[in-house]
Amino acid sequence: MATSTRVTVWNEYRHEKQNPEIAAIYPQGIHGAIAGYLRGHGCIVHTATLDEPHHGLTNHVLDNTDVLIWWGHMAHGEVKDEIVEQVHDHVLRGMGLIVLHSGHFSKIFKRLMGTTCNLKWREAGERERLWVVAAGHPIADGIGEYFEIPHEEMYGEFFDIPEPETLVFVSWFQGGEVFRSGCCYRRGQGRIFYFRPGHETYPTYHQPEVLRVISNAVRWAKPVERPNTTYGHRPEPIEPLK
Ligand code: ZN
Repeated sequence: MATSTRVTVWNEYRHEKQNPEIAAIYPQGIHGAIAGYLRGHGCIVHTATLDEPHHGLTNHVLDNTDVLIWWGHMAHGEVKDEIVEQVHDHVLRGMGLIVLHSGHFSKIFKRLMGTTCNLKWREAGERERLWVVAAGHPIADGIGEYFEIPHEEMYGEFFDIPEPETLVFVSWFQGGEVFRSGCCYRRGQGRIFYFRPGHETYPTYHQPEVLRVISNAVRWAKPVERPNTTYGHRPEPIEPLK
């Protein structure tokens, strides 16, 4: 019997508390919108936010998380290094991680990528068209050739990331820029997916295609059964040495 995937949705949760227009879009917070959708799609969902003790990410929470979703923007620097270390350690041991939108500048994403993760941006509410460039990939399941978001912040290349293992989406923006907006990685035993959309002033996390991609990515990123890996000195060969 398949067991339900245990998801923790982590959100900085500052914009929604400080800006009434953003609070009107996400009355339960960005984490609440994503969590609500995933609960309706067979996941066991927990939420955690920056201002909780340990940012809501104790070892107990992480030990019971198959996939962690991360949204942050204005307070990346307030995330404690020791928590970043714990998340990093859990990813290497197999926890999936989905980094959304401005999470490209989070400590955990930069740590896992090893690059600046810098990019171009413009906030003009322009149209974004996300093309599927890995047809048949499980993260693009149900999406078709492309989908559009009517109003979004622009992110443009060059995006200073390592070459993705699989590039699932490329975004085109009305102003002419393009961006690698759905990027798959593995680090240690963990799978990582970066997904671009989700500026806080637009209702992006209410859009069915965006939520579908996040839900697909949860399924893709969850840990898989694997044999114990051994390391180090191996004095006894498997075959006799002559
Ligand atoms: Zn943004």
